[in-house]
Amino acid sequence: PIRATPPRFATAGEALHTVFGYESFRGEQAAIIDQLVGGGDAVVLMPTGGGKSLCYQIPSLVREGTGVVVSPLIALMQDQVDALLANGVRAAFLNSTQDAAERSRVERAYIAGELDILYVAPERLSSESTKRFLDRGTIALFAIDEAHCVSQWGHDFRPDYLALSELAERWPDVPRIALTATATEATHREITSRLRLEGAAQFVADFDRPNIQYRIVPKAEVRTQLLDFITTEYPTDAGIVYGLSRNTVERTAEFLSARGLKALPYHAGLDAATRAATQSRFLREDGIIVVATIAFGMGIDKPDVRFVAHVDLPKSVEGYYQETGRAGRDGLPSTAWLAYGLNDVVQQRRMIDESPGDLAHRRKLSAHLDAMLALCETVQCRRVNLLGYFGQRAEPCGNCDTCLTPPESWDGTVPAQKLLSTVVRLQRERNQRYGAGHLIDIVRGKQTPRVTQFSHDTLATWGIGSDLSESQWRGVVRQLLAQELLKTEGEYGTLALTAGGADVLSGGRTVILRREPERPERASRSARK
Ligand code: ADP
Ligand code: ZN
Repeated sequence: PIRATPPRFATAGEALHTVFGYESFRGEQAAIIDQLVGGGDAVVLMPTGGGKSLCYQIPSLVREGTGVVVSPLIALMQDQVDALLANGVRAAFLNSTQDAAERSRVERAYIAGELDILYVAPERLSSESTKRFLDRGTIALFAIDEAHCVSQWGHDFRPDYLALSELAERWPDVPRIALTATATEATHREITSRLRLEGAAQFVADFDRPNIQYRIVPKAEVRTQLLDFITTEYPTDAGIVYGLSRNTVERTAEFLSARGLKALPYHAGLDAATRAATQSRFLREDGIIVVATIAFGMGIDKPDVRFVAHVDLPKSVEGYYQETGRAGRDGLPSTAWLAYGLNDVVQQRRMIDESPGDLAHRRKLSAHLDAMLALCETVQCRRVNLLGYFGQRAEPCGNCDTCLTPPESWDGTVPAQKLLSTVVRLQRERNQRYGAGHLIDIVRGKQTPRVTQFSHDTLATWGIGSDLSESQWRGVVRQLLAQELLKTEGEYGTLALTAGGADVLSGGRTVILRREPERPERASRSARK
């Protein structure tokens, strides 16, 4: 006879008080838990910090058997299990980091009915031997954490997740819950269909984080801008700064440290001990700033992170939302600050063009980037745009940069035509292609060695744009790229016209641009006073 772990608690409330020491359930936790305890399935979309873990941990303690939790975050399993053990929950995990002896100890405990919760890496569940092993015990429920990983269209697809559709066939009587903090309608649909959860109860939480103030500024000298932001607003607080490359992370951390802030780098190139030490200082000491690639932050539960800053443009709105969501879990005012510029757009478009994988894959990356650019360039409320991306309606919030200092828009058709015409002339008349910097030099009439070498001062558009400053021109080019009136080409990211750009040039389309202050940071700070 199979031994099943007996229920530890008669009711969910009892488990909540006794094990976790909390007074009451939050949001829809109680309803979600009821659904599982009663044997039903659930799909849960809830923002980071919303309290997803209890939604499967408590039913695992109330139902007979062991709750099997599928999670891709292997590095975090140890922490999650340690936290549960500290609360008296009999938890364990199975993943590739264990040796054979450790694994068989866990397996024996499961079969003997001595585990409340078992974390399993997704790739294990696709093997027949693991499934046969699970049949030797009693499964209380399946929890599929980070369920957006099943979405091929999403930002974090993991092929192993596709095999999880078999859980429904093999164990039709075991309740299943899929959870994610990614809430686009497309992801939601994919989770429901690919995991065979059409009959499940759907729980979609409000994704708004009203205490987070969203701000997106044009990038000038980004490290100085960042330093200004931190020292003016959060000089002694904890924060996370995200950059895309190790190099950026290292240099930014050095820069902030040299100016007296407690800033530590964190990226995959550092050894495990250093990373662990940084993480633990961040959790325990006050006022630590971690400068990180996206490797940092998943599963870290620090309530008083006052700001999340991005010094590079995130690759998707999902990623941006998840990263900024690590600010202000305690509900107190916090800031999501992002600086982005022309080079971000050029670089990311080029990386997409050069990325391995098929056309569909590149289309997907492009669509993610376009949504991110739309958020950056919007003249409307950032929150309305962000929540709209997740299929949720909102009113202008009064707590983002565009609400607080509404950006003016201006008719940029003429400057756009000047620049686009320069691109076309160089290509048609001389068969030459250039990046943004040199094109801007030409329209501004700046004598540089390259201008002289190629006699670009004889072009008809030479110097016709001297009314705008260099940084204004960079803003124009960035917005033309974001609006897809210009595109980047080839390994040097040279600029070329799109069909839309051709319309502008022929006078068939006007270009509305966002007006940007010359010194964005100073301007926004004085506006707040
Ligand atoms: P998520 O997985 O959705 O990001 P977690 O499950 O890690 O969120 O929960 C976030 C934090 O909220 C944790 O510190 C958790 O202990 C706490 N929490 C969750 N539910 C409750 C509750 N009902 N009452 C008080 N605190 C809660
Ligand atoms: Zn707003």
